[in-house]
Amino acid sequence: MPAGHPRILSLANQKGGVGKTTTAINLGTALAAIGERVLIVDLDPQGNASTGLGIDRRSRNCSTYDVLIGEAPLREAVVATAVPRLHIASSTMDLSGLELELGSTPGRAFRLRDAIAALNQNAEAGSDYTYVLIDCPPSLNLLTVNAMAASDAILVPLQCEFFALEGLSQLLQTVEQVRSTLNPNLSIHGIVLTMFDSRNNLSNQVVADVRQFMGSKVYNTMIPRNVRISEAPSYGKPVLVYDLKCVGSDAYLKLATEVIQRERELKTH
Ligand code: ADP
Ligand code: MG
Repeated sequence: MPAGHPRILSLANQKGGVGKTTTAINLGTALAAIGERVLIVDLDPQGNASTGLGIDRRSRNCSTYDVLIGEAPLREAVVATAVPRLHIASSTMDLSGLELELGSTPGRAFRLRDAIAALNQNAEAGSDYTYVLIDCPPSLNLLTVNAMAASDAILVPLQCEFFALEGLSQLLQTVEQVRSTLNPNLSIHGIVLTMFDSRNNLSNQVVADVRQFMGSKVYNTMIPRNVRISEAPSYGKPVLVYDLKCVGSDAYLKLATEVIQRERELKTH
């Protein structure tokens, strides 16, 4: 892929607590570990991706809010993390007011797309990303629409629990709407099953249902429920840094390989 043209993927699901942020952090870290240059864009006012990567709230002078409101270029909101080749544009609570503040400003859905495009135009050494991962908030609001309008594809984390499929059709409908109005190139990269517990019959049933419903869109790699994954953010570290040898780290490395593999297949078709 030519320098300056990253693949832009959104982690989206309007349900909270399904593993969007965990996947943004750890897929981003795994991609960086295998040589990709990755930017995570935190679009959730909660800022969990930023906190989970050890970015102190007090150091977020410039955030994705400033970028989307039009007061700063994306480059200014970007900071390096402790992981080589992994950068993040942090968020703050201000983001929750963005939708109201922008009102019906023309082009309000393209703020992020344009900010990322401007980043590429002046790509300096170290900012020529190969992947941009956008961590969406748990709703189908203007922030998520901005993410979808800016993305090549979306990656949907689904938690292996009883209501996993509930809401998926609404999400797919939104993707369809964005495709027909804002971004004809948007596709579904894949569905990643998270918090899988093989000892739990319900988990196994959910996997069977989702695979039947979504077929090959579901990644082979499933992210197991793993306590190390849930402990890592409180240390401000990705699980791959906190405990490289745990099953959670292993799963995210496998997922990164599969994501890259799918990219190659897309390019040869
Ligand atoms: P979302 O961003 O979709 O709201 P999060 O990624 O924040 O979801 O995950 C919700 C909670 O579940 C967090 O406390 C996180 O640490 C935990 N969690 C996520 N994935 C796993 C996993 N595979 N195993 C154990 N805990 C997990
Ligand atoms: Mg989140």
